[in-house]
Amino acid sequence: MTTLCPPDHPALLPLTGALQQMLAAIQPVADHQQLPLTAAFDRVLAEDCRAQLATPPFDTAAMDGYALRASDCASPLTIVGRVLAGDANALAVGPGGAVRIMTGAAVPPELDLVVMQEQAEVEGDQLRVPADGRSGDHIRRAGSEVAVGEVLASVGTRIGPRHIALLASQGIASVRVYRRPRVAVLSTGNELVTVGEPLQSGQIYDSNRPMMLALLQRLDVEVIDLGRIADDPEALSQALADAASRADAIISSGGVSVGEADFVRPLLAQLGQVNFWKLAIKPGKPFAFGRIGQAWFFGLPGNPVSAMVTFDQLAAQGLRRLAGEQPQPPQLLPAMAGGSFKKQPGRLDLQRVNATIDEGRLTLTANGPQGSAQLTSLTRADGLVHLQQDRGAVGPGEPVMFEPFSPLLR
Ligand code: AMP
Ligand code: MG
Repeated sequence: MTTLCPPDHPALLPLTGALQQMLAAIQPVADHQQLPLTAAFDRVLAEDCRAQLATPPFDTAAMDGYALRASDCASPLTIVGRVLAGDANALAVGPGGAVRIMTGAAVPPELDLVVMQEQAEVEGDQLRVPADGRSGDHIRRAGSEVAVGEVLASVGTRIGPRHIALLASQGIASVRVYRRPRVAVLSTGNELVTVGEPLQSGQIYDSNRPMMLALLQRLDVEVIDLGRIADDPEALSQALADAASRADAIISSGGVSVGEADFVRPLLAQLGQVNFWKLAIKPGKPFAFGRIGQAWFFGLPGNPVSAMVTFDQLAAQGLRRLAGEQPQPPQLLPAMAGGSFKKQPGRLDLQRVNATIDEGRLTLTANGPQGSAQLTSLTRADGLVHLQQDRGAVGPGEPVMFEPFSPLLR
């Protein structure tokens, strides 16, 4: 693959184009595993899961009541037996006969109507039901929901509680899933101190690595934590080569801009390839995507808000693809600007906002200053307003699009 942007004079790439390039380049990890169903929770299916049973497996009573022939419902009936859920279907019911039946029980094949018990009049073994009962009422017919062979969950599905329930209902005891991607993570910066250690003059705490580790935990990948690496080309080059030899993807923070201690992007070009660098988004312009050996590389900017936003918008989507999913773009909701938003044309602005419903309309207001180091406004906001690339400042009442924080960031 070639370098798509010359590293020294790259044009700003729009977010959608960057995502398209990234998702077109990344293929799911090649290895699969066969796992017991419950162990496969939150994993990604590596093949379609097909129904091995018809559902329901037999004609099933949907109510507690009485089963009979619909053609008999105008006349008095005789109750000849009882069927509970789990009973084998052993009763034979002649014309004019009915059975007491419970929800989940198999309806005898010669009967075609279940009348709920609230509508039945019973005296001893004599039964009267409303005359307007129709064949099939309150019966879940065998195979009416799922036919044998039907696809229940397709390749690329991340298995959630809903899929576990459906597959278990089919007696599917194990499924084939992709191996979890191995992701190496590192933060760069001489100024960074790990929480728990004292701060010296000129230092700050490393907040990006704990943030990246938390996000990776939510993404259910295997993590290789390479710690904090100094702004030293030698040390960085070693760390990146080590990461590339062990991981399917590498995520770093810092050092991808144009400062004198920003070695990550030049090293990426030297050790591997830069697919793109510099995006038309704010925050998050200096984001690098590329490859070192067999490992995909996501270089997040150092500023904490830029790091989190680009992780969510880009790196997380790349990792989902690597994990076998077919990532979808976030769903944006139409909204109204509740105040004005400062903006220059040229980049897609993702500003932190609070959302309220005003007279039935979703209304957004900026959550304080939007500095890309200001984490407080991330924790206090409800999501991001998308202010399109070519747009300038936005006035109150103008239409805008809202992206609630993704489940990853909540
Ligand atoms: P850089 O992208 O390395 O030029 O860093 C940009 C800004 O983000 C600088 O103010 C850094 O101190 C800060 N920064 C970089 N990495 C981290 C980190 N891991 N945690 C918190 N702040 C960081
Ligand atoms: Mg730095």
